[in-house]
Amino acid sequence: MKVINIALPLAAGRRAMVFALFFMFATISASAQSLRPDAFPPVEDTLSPKALTMATTLEEMDRWNRYPTYNVYTAMMQRFVERYPDLCRVDTIGVSIQGRLILCLAITGSSDNDLYRPEFFYSSTMHGDELTGFYLMLRLCDTLLGSYGTSRQITSLLDRTRIYINPLSNPDGTYYGGDSTVALARRYNADSVDLNRNYPDPFGTPPLDSLQPENKAMIAYVERHNFLLSANLHGGSEVMNYPWDSFTSYERLNEHSEWWKAVSKRFVDTCRRVDNRRFRDVRPAGYVNGGDWYVISNGRQDYFNYYHNMREITMELSTVKKLATNLLGHYWKVESQSLINYIEEIHHLDDTVVGVPHHQEAAYKAFPNPTRGKVTVVTPQGARCYDLGDRPAGIHIIRIGDMPVKIIKL
Ligand SMILES: [Zn+2]
Repeated sequence: MKVINIALPLAAGRRAMVFALFFMFATISASAQSLRPDAFPPVEDTLSPKALTMATTLEEMDRWNRYPTYNVYTAMMQRFVERYPDLCRVDTIGVSIQGRLILCLAITGSSDNDLYRPEFFYSSTMHGDELTGFYLMLRLCDTLLGSYGTSRQITSLLDRTRIYINPLSNPDGTYYGGDSTVALARRYNADSVDLNRNYPDPFGTPPLDSLQPENKAMIAYVERHNFLLSANLHGGSEVMNYPWDSFTSYERLNEHSEWWKAVSKRFVDTCRRVDNRRFRDVRPAGYVNGGDWYVISNGRQDYFNYYHNMREITMELSTVKKLATNLLGHYWKVESQSLINYIEEIHHLDDTVVGVPHHQEAAYKAFPNPTRGKVTVVTPQGARCYDLGDRPAGIHIIRIGDMPVKIIKL
C-alpha cells in the first residue's frame, strides 16, 4: 500500500509536470507566432541536414525535389538562356563579399520592342536561410519560359511585361557552409550583417553598418531600371507584409494600402484554394500592414517604396525557413499560381500606369529616381526629359501640368 500511496502522488506529480510543460510550450509557441521573425535574432532551425537534399547535377535538379548546389544554381541560370535565347538573358546584379554572383534572369516575350512595357521584379532570400523563395523563383523561371507559346496566360504576360527574377540576393548566407550545401545557411551575409536592416531609411536613422556590397549592387540595379512592382521573398512565417514597415497603419498609412490589401487577399485566397491551412500564423486574413505586425527600420521594402516610386511587398512564404526538400513540391503547387498572378497585377495598378492623380506626390513615374542628372518622367502623353544638373542636391518637386512629381537629386 505504501508503494501505491507513494506511487499515486508521484504519478499525479508527473501528470502535473507534463501539463505544465505542455502549457509552457503552448504559451511559447503562441507568443513566438506573434513575433516577427525579421525583428529578432532568428531561432536556428533544427532540421536534420538529411531533410535538405542537394542536387549536384542539372539532371538531379530536373525533378524539382532538391536544393541546388551553388554550381548547379549558376548552371541553371545559364541553361535558361541556352534553352530560351529569344526569351531571356542573365544579368549580374553584383558580386557578394565572398565572390559569389548575384544573378537576375530577365524574361520577356519574343517581340520586345514597345517602349513602355512595364518592368516587374522578384527578389528572394536576402536572408540566406530563408530557402523556400529561392527554390520557388528558380521553378518560376522554368515555368514561365517553358510555358511560353503553350499557356495563354503566360504567353500574354511575357508579351506585355519585362520580368526580372533574382532568386538569391544573399548567396554567401545561403552557402555559408560551402557551395555544396544549404544545411548551414544563415540569415546574415559574410560580414554578419542583416541585409534587411542595412538600407538607407527614408524616415529615420542611418543603418548601423555601412552599406553592404550586396545591397549597394541591388540599389544600383534597381536605379538602372524602371520597376513598377516588385516582391521581396522571405520565410519564417506565412503572410503578405505590405508597406510601411517603419510605421503602424495608425501612425502613417501607405497611400496604396487598400490596393495592397486587395492584391494580398487575391494572393492568399488563390493559395488557400489548394491548401486552406496556409497563411494563418500571423493574421487570419493572411496579410498585414508591416508596422502593425512589427516596426522595423532600414528595411528594403520601405526604401524601395519611398525612394524609387516602385511598389514592393514582402512575401513571407513558409513558416519553416529551411523547408525540407520533400515539401518543396507541395509549396510550389500551393503558391505558383499566386506568384504568376502577382506579376499580372502590374497591369492593374490603381493609378501609376494610367496616370490618374490619386494622391499628391509622384503620380507620374520618374526614372532614374534618385538621380544625379537627367531624369525621364513618363506621362500618358509620353516621356519627358528634365535635366537637374544645375540644381542642388535634395528633394525637388517638378510640376507637369498640375501634377507634382517628386525627384530626389543626389
Ligand atoms: Zn527574412
